[in-house]
Amino acid sequence: MSNKIADQINLINSELSVYDTQLIAVSKTKPMSMIEEAYDAGHRAFGENKVQELVEKHEAMPKDIVWHMIGHLQRNKVKYIAPFVGLIHGVDTVKLLETINKEGAKNNRVIDCLLQVHIADEMTKFGFSGDELKDYLLQGNVEGLSNVNIKGLMGMATNTSDVIQISKEFEGLKSLFDTLKNSELSPNINLEEISMGMSGDYKLAIKAGSTMVRIGSTIFGSRNYN
Ligand SMILES: *Cc1c(COP(=O)(O)O)cnc(C)c1O
Repeated sequence: MSNKIADQINLINSELSVYDTQLIAVSKTKPMSMIEEAYDAGHRAFGENKVQELVEKHEAMPKDIVWHMIGHLQRNKVKYIAPFVGLIHGVDTVKLLETINKEGAKNNRVIDCLLQVHIADEMTKFGFSGDELKDYLLQGNVEGLSNVNIKGLMGMATNTSDVIQISKEFEGLKSLFDTLKNSELSPNINLEEISMGMSGDYKLAIKAGSTMVRIGSTIFGSRNYN
């Protein structure tokens, strides 16, 4: 039996190895059997965008998997993933960050988060503007949130075939990241990761400095929804 999932993961990892970028395999909507195939090929980092699905898969799968919450997260659902989530990519409001901090405290954990920046030329994508984020982080507002660690930024480019536009959006996120990284920030802001790039645009993202790509359909095949 050929193992297409393992082949795809190996192929992408070989492309990423030149850049020191990590692959997050986005398994949303896909069955446990497919995650097992990837796991058996040695892969350990998976991304989901629905809380219930994330919890079910975490419960069923081996415990050395690191689960990434990659989608829009509602505040009232943070409590379900706070005990185990490895990294929350899409933190798009201060209130959400504060809720994650509260749930982190209840679980005696410091939860790693990425702040989502709105880089796309679309109304539908969530996130802070670059200026909002600079204001918020440089004012020291985060210092009291001792149960979150801000580990970097996340962005989604416009859904377009214009590669120049996509590259500009990714480069803008990298530039914001560099500016912030060179600023005086609270001890719980440790900027290491830039999560950008999906199946359609990850090659542009890694060229622009992505440290984490979130890839679903190229590994697991197309989805019926989302
Ligand atoms: C679904 C999803 C991905 C993966 O998308 P593909 O095009 O299948 O690679 C990446 N990031 C987020 C936030 C997603 O919701």
